[in-house]
This record gives sequence, structure tokens and C-alpha cells, in this order.
Amino acid sequence: MQEVRCTHCGKLLGLIEGTYKIKCPRCKTMNIYLEKLDMTVKVDNSLN
Ligand SMILES: [Zn+2]
Repeated sequence: MQEVRCTHCGKLLGLIEGTYKIKCPRCKTMNIYLEKLDMTVKVDNSLN
């Protein structure tokens, strides 16, 4: 388990294990973590 925070605003999104895809309720940034690639991907959702 790891503490997951929004890459944009730093809001705590929860304690999650492995790959996740969470939309931040505060700034609407989609936070994606792909465990196999060991990287975080920030997707700017402002166009929606
Ligand atoms: Zn956020």
C-alpha cells in the first residue's frame, strides 16, 4: 500500500496498492500510476 497524492495539487487521494487511475476531486486531474512501468502519468483534463 502506498499513499497516493494528486500530482497537480497534492491532495491525498487514498491508500492504494498497485496500478491505479484516480481523478482528483479537487482539481480534476487524472492521476494514473502504471506499476509495471514504474512511472506516474499526469493527464491534463482541463479540455473537458
Ligand atoms: Zn488535484
